[in-house]
Amino acid sequence: LEISGNGSSHERDVTIIGAGPTGLFTGYYCGFRGLSVRIVDVLHELGGQVTAYYPEKMIYDVPGFAAILGKDLVKALAEQVAQYNPEYCLGEEIRSLEKLGEKQFKLTTASGKEYMSKAVIITSGVGLFEPNKLPDPRFRRYEGKGLYYAVKSRADFEGKDLLVIGGGDSAVDWALNLEGTAKSIILIHRRDGFRAAPDSMRKLAASSVEVRAFTELEDIKGTDWITDVRLKDTKTTRMEMVARNAVLACLGFISRPGPMIKWPVEFEKGQIRVDERYETAVPGVFAAGDVAYRPGKIVLIATGYGEGCTAANYAAHYIKPGESVMPEHSTSREQA
Ligand SMILES: Cc1cc2nc3c(=O)[nH]c(=O)nc-3n(C[C@H](O)[C@H](O)[C@H](O)COP(=O)(O)OP(=O)(O)OC[C@H]3O[C@@H](n4cnc5c(N)ncnc54)[C@H](O)[C@@H]3O)c2cc1C
Repeated sequence: LEISGNGSSHERDVTIIGAGPTGLFTGYYCGFRGLSVRIVDVLHELGGQVTAYYPEKMIYDVPGFAAILGKDLVKALAEQVAQYNPEYCLGEEIRSLEKLGEKQFKLTTASGKEYMSKAVIITSGVGLFEPNKLPDPRFRRYEGKGLYYAVKSRADFEGKDLLVIGGGDSAVDWALNLEGTAKSIILIHRRDGFRAAPDSMRKLAASSVEVRAFTELEDIKGTDWITDVRLKDTKTTRMEMVARNAVLACLGFISRPGPMIKWPVEFEKGQIRVDERYETAVPGVFAAGDVAYRPGKIVLIATGYGEGCTAANYAAHYIKPGESVMPEHSTSREQA
């Protein structure tokens, strides 16, 4: 499921910070309550921890599914919220959160974009996820010149001789996914044991992707753009120069608390303290999912859904006080 995410500066009723499972379901519920929604995430993909850590694992405790693959759950959540056309702003880190007045919030991103909304729901989970980068500082100068850590647009790889680096699901899935878009693809991994799902490995074996195990990226060449890479066979230490004009490193993610610590909400044990309405210390700012603290809370996808739903209903009431907190049942609605 491909989502393009270039947000506008138009005011929305609600801005949701974080497109993990809680953020997506909360987005659905806001839409259901007739609110316009913007969903912002620093990642270029939806799904938060599920996408970052276990897209190919089965989840057994999500309501309604005896078992569901992580990535299928994210797809289903994205489809559910899609009926209300949320505006996605992906690849954007929310740096600051300011209350300008009642029903007037300004969020500012790391790149300086400003998003206005009448209420804010924070579903930022365990914090900011960012792709791990290649450790060699010499490679930094190639960011924006052919070195990628995420696929923002498939068009970036159109007709390219691509090197994909990594041994997990994301490296294998992207190598398969970009087959036919890139002119040629080499996938390298420094060990031989790929950690991708068996089905993806079967597809890889049948694909045109050239797979090289025990291989490391030793150097990148090129002035204005990458032209060649030097690969090292880690067993024999033999080097080889290969013409490549795109490198996609899929090295997993790290998470960090991020900038929320400076936001004007209250914290408890590193999470944001909320009341029974899932409202923070700032009226109009709600929090749900892994990031929200309540005593005795159980941190799971299922509980995040209930919290997001609660927050969305109180946000609807905050924005339109004439409207009841309790929604009508979804079964009494015509299909959207
Ligand atoms: C290996 C593993 C296995 C798990 N298995 C299960 C299981 O079987 N069942 C279960 O119920 N739970 C499981 N969990 C826990 C579950 O994944 C989390 O409870 C769930 O993902 C929380 O969802 P969330 O939307 O609240 O937060 P997250 O999934 O953490 O999503 C938060 C999103 O917010 C974004 N973000 C944060 N800060 C900012 C910012 N400042 N600006 C922009 N974006 C921001 C992040 O990039 C992220 O995408 C597992 C977790 C792990 C790590």
